[in-house]
Amino acid sequence: SSAVTKNTKIVLNLESLGSLPADEAGPLARYASTIQAQRHDYNGKVLSIRAEDLKSLAIIYDMSPDELTTRLIEWGVLSPGADVASYFDDE
Ligand code: C2E
Ligand code: C2E
Ligand code: C2E
Repeated sequence: SSAVTKNTKIVLNLESLGSLPADEAGPLARYASTIQAQRHDYNGKVLSIRAEDLKSLAIIYDMSPDELTTRLIEWGVLSPGADVASYFDDE
């Protein structure tokens, strides 16, 4: 059914994130590093984050969550299939 995307998790690709220029990806990289440290989760190739965290990141980047999602897909940090924007349809 079409509601499947509601359950899609936000999973960051840490290898792609690590290879991006620091001036653009720096805030996101620091955010992800902080979450890894809080969880003691250092060895993953990916990091699942909270939907709420994407909203915080959108404020940091001065974008809407939709715009940030598009940017993350362009950077190769989010899978294009994730359709994260569906999280925010009803807000
Ligand atoms: P907390 O928010 O009080 O969560 C305590 C513990 O509850 C977490 O310990 C984790 O075992 C579990 N937990 C809470 N929410 C979730 C969830 O949505 N999914 C899963 N699988 N488990 C959940 P943990 O992982 O050691 O994290 C310790 C603290 O680090 C958390 O305390 C929180 O303050 C912070 N943290 C960790 N990961 C994230 C994150 O992705 N986003 C944010 N904003 N904070 C995080
Ligand atoms: P999944 O959520 O689809 O994750 C698939 C695999 O992606 C995980 O395999 C792990 O290798 C990687 N992965 C995803 N998110 C993270 C992350 O934030 N940090 C790290 N280091 N790796 C991540 P894994 O560990 O064998 O887990 C298999 C499945 O077991 C997961 O599928 C999920 O459904 C469940 N699972 C594992 N750990 C947790 C957890 O802490 N909370 C919940 N709710 N489910 C978990
Ligand atoms: P997940 O563990 O499969 O959790 C899916 C959703 O269930 C979470 O979406 C959240 O809405 C709810 N949930 C699960 N555990 C808790 C909890 O302890 N407290 C509360 N209030 N809600 C909970 P959300 O927040 O978008 O998180 C998406 C994924 O990010 C989680 O999938 C998990 O893989 C990761 N994550 C988020 N927070 C933490 C955390 O504190 N520690 C760890 N280890 N992983 C987290």
